[in-house]
Formats: sequence, C-alpha cells, structure tokens
Amino acid sequence: MNDLCSMRFEELQTQLLACGAKKFTASQVFAWLHQKQVTSPDEMTNISKELREKLKKNYLFSSCTIEKKLVSVYDDTVKYLFRLYDGELIESVVMQYKYGYTICVSSQVGCKMGCTFCASGIAGFVRNLLPGEILAQVYTAQRDLGIRISHIVMMGVGEPLDNFDNVMTFLSLVTDARGQNLSMRNISLSTCGVVPMIYRLMEAHLQLTLSVSLHAPNDAIRQKTMPVARRWDMETLLQACRDYTAATSRRISFEYAMISGVNDSNEHARELASQLKGMLCHVNLIPVNSVKERDYVRSGDDRIRDFIRVLEKHGINVTVRRTLGSDINASCGQLRRGETK
Ligand code: SAH
Repeated sequence: MNDLCSMRFEELQTQLLACGAKKFTASQVFAWLHQKQVTSPDEMTNISKELREKLKKNYLFSSCTIEKKLVSVYDDTVKYLFRLYDGELIESVVMQYKYGYTICVSSQVGCKMGCTFCASGIAGFVRNLLPGEILAQVYTAQRDLGIRISHIVMMGVGEPLDNFDNVMTFLSLVTDARGQNLSMRNISLSTCGVVPMIYRLMEAHLQLTLSVSLHAPNDAIRQKTMPVARRWDMETLLQACRDYTAATSRRISFEYAMISGVNDSNEHARELASQLKGMLCHVNLIPVNSVKERDYVRSGDDRIRDFIRVLEKHGINVTVRRTLGSDINASCGQLRRGETK
C-alpha cells in the first residue's frame, strides 16, 4: 500500500487525480499533511467525505504514536519512543539550543552497520523507515511540545545512506515551502562512511551538513570498532570527503567518539591531524556514551583537553559535543534497546 505521507507533491497530485479528485485538491491535501500536519484524513475538513474515505481505504497513513516520553530534569531534553503503524519502535530526541529546537531523528528500525560502541545495531536490522515515518518524528514532537523545530540532525538509529532514496524524499518534503519549509542548511546528515552513497549525495548538491563518523585516526583502530571500515578504508573515505567538499563547497564535520585507551592519546591526535591536513573540515569530539552491553569507558576531561590542544596546534577546528539528557538515555538507540529486549 502506498503511503500518503511519503509522496512528493507531484506524485500526490497524480494519485489524487487517479482517485477522481480535482487538480487543486493536491495543494489542499499537501497542506493538511505537511503544513497543518494532521494525523488522519478525517481531519481534512475542506476535502469531500468521499475522497477522505478513499484515502483511508487505499493508502497507508504513516503517522507515529508516542509510546514513551522522557524529559530530562537537567536540561529539558525530551526523548520519545514512537510506535509505528506495524508496531515497530523508533526513537527521537528534541534538544533546545540558543538558536532554536533541534530534533535528532532515526532513519531505520535497527541498523546493519555493527559499530561496536553503538547500541543501535545490537539487536540487528529490521527495516527502512518510510519518508513519512521520518517526517512523522518531526511533526509528532512539534505537536506534542507546541513548538516549531528549526534544525534536524539525522543521527538517531540507523544509517541514513543505507536508506538513500527514502532519506532523499524526506529531505525534499521537509524543506518543501508548501510544508514544514525547513532550510536545508539547518539539516545535518551523519554517515558511518558508506562511500558510494557519499558520491550519490554529492551529485544532489544539497546545502546540508555532512557529518562523517570517523572515530579513529587510522585503519587498524577503525576496523576494530567499525565493520564498515573493512569495506572502505580511510584513504578511500577521506578522498570521498575531499571530493564532496570540492563539489559542494560545504565543510565536513567529523564525529570522533573519545574512548579511553582506544583512540584518545596525543599520538592519536597527531595522527588524526595529519590525516585531515588541508581539508575544509571540523572535528566534533563526543565523550563515548557507555552502553550496557559494551565495556567502553569515556575519556576523562583532562585527556579530552590535551587531545584538543594537539589538534588545535596542528590547525584543526575542534569542538566537544555538549552532553544533553544524560539522565534519560538520550543517546544512540539505548531507549529502544531497553524496550525491545
Ligand atoms: N549511522 C550514522 C548515524 C547514526 S549515529 C553514523 O554512523 O554516523 C550518530 C553518531 O553517534 C555517530 O557518529 C555514531 O558513531 C555516534 N555514536 C554511536 N554510539 C555512540 C556512543 N555509545 N557514544 C558516542 N557516540 C556514539
């Protein structure tokens, strides 16, 4: 069954015409779906009853419902566990920054990539999310909190570039001026480094920020923690990043989880700096979040400070990710993991 909430405007128009609707009906239905963000055709009050019934009968409506909601007592970060139409669970996090609200969305139910420090893939991969299901995370959180979300990071559960077509449709819908009308510049997409798909993304010339999960200064360490690194080595990945920047003029953000005794020495910092030398990039250090099933320990504050000092000495831009929602398991598949075990 086709999902009503996953169609670009033109496709929606074609489908509605086939249902016997007038041409202008597509604008109305699109506005109900993506501007007013209703949860059922029943709410589309200026559409004929007959068409609403047809839509309900012939199409999937991929909204999601709130299964669980946790609010951090420290910083108002909100974590949602959402239930999808088929009963699967996904999670999203809403964070408040000076410049507005950011949501971290999931792109898949589970994950195939198997990074050893991440909770998302422990229970394996279930399925790709539909474009409408990625959108529904944004719309449902907005409605529940009575806010407008201005920034999106695709850093929840799943590998966005492993669900390429649906993610591209999602990006096109969420930036559509007739809908949520978000600026592409306010969207970040994070990948563990699926090289061919970085090239496909490059061809789309989007103004989004590409984040690449590097997490290691060399192949030996990277291959131990990230299976994807055995498929595409670091030189191949970094070359794709250089090509991406050359084609889009966009600065790449490298994510680097600081794991005590694994990738956090001054020597590692020097090696990382030499790998990234001359690139238009930025390094975002993330003190690794401990995952129950794994025994990684985050680097201490002093170690992180020294690591930063070495990177900066070599001219690399670096920031440390602020830890939000630490009391509500706000990171990386932990809530869904706790729920589905
Ligand atoms: N699959 C994509 C996006 C999802 S994860 C990717 O790999 O980039 C978002 C970020 O959180 C990635 O950089 C990921 O490597 C990182 N991450 C996963 N588990 C983590 C943990 N336990 N501690 C810190 N960062 C983690």
